[in-house]
Amino acid sequence: MATYDLIIREGTIVDGTGKERFIGDIAVKDGLIAQVGAITGDATQEINASGMIVTPGFVDVHTHYDGQATWDPEMAPSSWHGVTTVIMGNCGVGFAPAAPDRHEWLIGLMEGVEDIPGTALAEGMKWNWETFPEYLDALEKLPRTVDVGTHVPHGAVRAYVLGDREKPGAVPTDDDIAKMGDIVEEGVRAGALGFSTSRTVIHKSIDGELVPGTTATAEELISIGKAMARAGHGVFEMASDLKREWNEFDWMGKLSRDTGLPVTFAALQSIAKEMPLDEQIAAMRAENDNGANIVAQIALRGNGIVMAWQGTVHPFRFRPSWMAISDLGWAEQKTKLLDPVFKDQLLAEENDFTGAPQDLIHLFMAIVNGWSAQFEMDPDFDYEPPAESSIQARAEKAGVGPQEYAYDLLCRDDGKGFIYLPILNYQDGNLDFLEALQASDDTVNSLSDGGAHCGTICDAASPTFMLQHWVRDRKRAATRNSGKVSLEHAIKRQCRDTAQLYGLEDRGLIAPGYLADLNIIDFDRLKLGKPWLAFDLPAGGKRLLQKADGYVATIKGGVVTFREGEWTGATPGNLIRGPQQVTMLEAAE
Ligand SMILES: [Zn+2]
Repeated sequence: MATYDLIIREGTIVDGTGKERFIGDIAVKDGLIAQVGAITGDATQEINASGMIVTPGFVDVHTHYDGQATWDPEMAPSSWHGVTTVIMGNCGVGFAPAAPDRHEWLIGLMEGVEDIPGTALAEGMKWNWETFPEYLDALEKLPRTVDVGTHVPHGAVRAYVLGDREKPGAVPTDDDIAKMGDIVEEGVRAGALGFSTSRTVIHKSIDGELVPGTTATAEELISIGKAMARAGHGVFEMASDLKREWNEFDWMGKLSRDTGLPVTFAALQSIAKEMPLDEQIAAMRAENDNGANIVAQIALRGNGIVMAWQGTVHPFRFRPSWMAISDLGWAEQKTKLLDPVFKDQLLAEENDFTGAPQDLIHLFMAIVNGWSAQFEMDPDFDYEPPAESSIQARAEKAGVGPQEYAYDLLCRDDGKGFIYLPILNYQDGNLDFLEALQASDDTVNSLSDGGAHCGTICDAASPTFMLQHWVRDRKRAATRNSGKVSLEHAIKRQCRDTAQLYGLEDRGLIAPGYLADLNIIDFDRLKLGKPWLAFDLPAGGKRLLQKADGYVATIKGGVVTFREGEWTGATPGNLIRGPQQVTMLEAAE
């Protein structure tokens, strides 16, 4: 019998510690890394990784696969990008606890906040749970390619406790708050990795109602945090507009100090946030200097809306001519769109914002005529695009109006042209501000939103972008350094640091005793593909997908799950229940 299950030979190992890469072999047995170095034994399976880099599997802490994880074992698109662990239930939305008469309402909340088609959720989910522990049991039953962990989401908890009283501005009684705490404690004891909430006006249910918890008082949030502390662990995650009058950092600091638990928030440059990003970071650091443990989740690129005729948004969606055909099938729409008479008529029209939510008008204006901030997504698209490649600039060069240019480019590729509009994190027209933030221990790589924003955003590919852009290709540099991030540091951030935030001490490193979650990457060949709209969710629901070249193999628990971007059909992933410890292996002879 072979000594090991798998040996990866002669790879360039980037082990997740941040230390310099080295060439060596990795032996795997029973799902764990057994040995690293020069390995003499034999194995049932060997992979030659000579010339490739070998990294730990990526840990993505900010996803929204809460519905998909109950029906889909493949867990794309995250699993196509080297991710072997996803944490979901972020931003206060999810599907447990769920009273039997609240299923539709919870779906509406997810559809509104995260742009996941409600019909897909309704058809895909079996709802064989009511309480949070029952949801975890349901998750555990389905095999999948990656490990999943989750938060208890505030929206579901509040709706469960308040029932019909859950309305915008609803004020829970002390008794309600105590009950919410009990549910969160129960969920965390059953294995949830934390609790999440949302306090942003952008997050709305499909009916345009604010997400439950948006107006929660600091007392409610701190009380829930204390309930989580009774269970002994958990991360408190929050997306917030960070309005100054809300004093968010005061209560985050207090919550963290009182409970000893980490608090983490989405830290973005955003027109919706009153506090500029540097002020957010400074406020966080002031609290941390005072004994708190607050961690900023940063995105590695502009969070961009990807616009297409068939996407959820595009610059012409408020024109009467588009609205008249918006409910038609794609074939009929395409015939109209390619008709020059229709085009001239549409381009001559004004936008009609009747009925659009007033607090989102600034966003809609960026969509309908923010041409200098919109970019054409060609095959070699650079996600840090310079001003001269904006639609405004390219239209000028081509001698046509920007709206006509945009219209024509959406019609390219048989109507599958894409426009990128970075609405967050791109107000400077570059990503220079992320250089220093990536060097800092109080930030984590995050905000991929995998599984969400199906018709508008495709950032689940963030880890690939990190390697391709930040480590390898980035040409700009604001500072005296290269403007890049070292491979070793980037891997540490995407594997070890993210895992540790959630107490997952069993992964994120290549060393004996750690989970054999690994990527073998042909780094020179690594490249994001062009995004596409697939209609493959249940009930034909649409989602933006993006693949990448260069992932030679992804390995989860010692089992090859993906080869050159194709799923092998293996499903070694599990539900993660609570913090994890590394396995101490007996010293090898
Ligand atoms: Zn989110």
